[in-house]
Amino acid sequence: MTKDMPALFIGHGSPMNAVSKNEFTDSLAALGKRLPEPEAIMVISAHWLTPGTYVSCNEKPGTIHDFYGFPEELYEIEYPCPGSPDNAGSLIDSIRKVSIKCSNDWGLDHASWAILKHMYPGADIPVFEMSLDYSFNEWHPKPIQYHYEIASQLAILREKGILIIGSGNIVHNLGRIDFRNIDAEPYDWAVEFDERVKLDIVNKDHEELIRYQKINGATLAVPTLDHYLPMIYVIALQGENDPLKFIYEGFQHGSISMRCFQIG
Ligand code: ZN
Repeated sequence: MTKDMPALFIGHGSPMNAVSKNEFTDSLAALGKRLPEPEAIMVISAHWLTPGTYVSCNEKPGTIHDFYGFPEELYEIEYPCPGSPDNAGSLIDSIRKVSIKCSNDWGLDHASWAILKHMYPGADIPVFEMSLDYSFNEWHPKPIQYHYEIASQLAILREKGILIIGSGNIVHNLGRIDFRNIDAEPYDWAVEFDERVKLDIVNKDHEELIRYQKINGATLAVPTLDHYLPMIYVIALQGENDPLKFIYEGFQHGSISMRCFQIG
């Protein structure tokens, strides 16, 4: 029997990391070399918010430059990996509890390519994305428990050798960010929230992570759910015997936690 592919949560931070070399990007490069080679990669992206859940089904996913006001060199980056319509399609068929739909319009946003560029610079592994359901309804957006339940059905991908990456940030407050200084001292509330989340991940206290509003600093650390939710997908995938490893810990720009971890 082959071992299940690990699953990752990556705190991606600013798109500038795509063209930077720092401790964080070095950790991604080392990670890509250390992991078993995946059949394909599925990224659950903080930057793809949709009514309902979608997976990208393109043969050749385009590189989406979904940000404004950054240096020209960032807009010139292409990540020309193949897509994985077969794996996206069979995922749609195998998930029963919710209806997942196929999208041919979306390619790879920077939650994918800004990190994969460091992990897999050859861009030779097929990649597809999964969106976050941000439906407009009485629960706008869907409750975290709903995402946790979708995520727990994704374990079949790990059995098939597909690397699942949740790409977001545990603490992500753009209103308090120090844009000019990547090494800005992190805020006390940011550190406190990030440490508490770390402890909950270690203790498998998923209940507290789902009800994160009770954690000190939550209002400032998680002003919107988009960057927090990809982490929920990864903890939901942790099996009984999956080890946990923190790949990177630290902050950028004072209000962005770059914490990354691996299960399995
Ligand atoms: Zn982001």
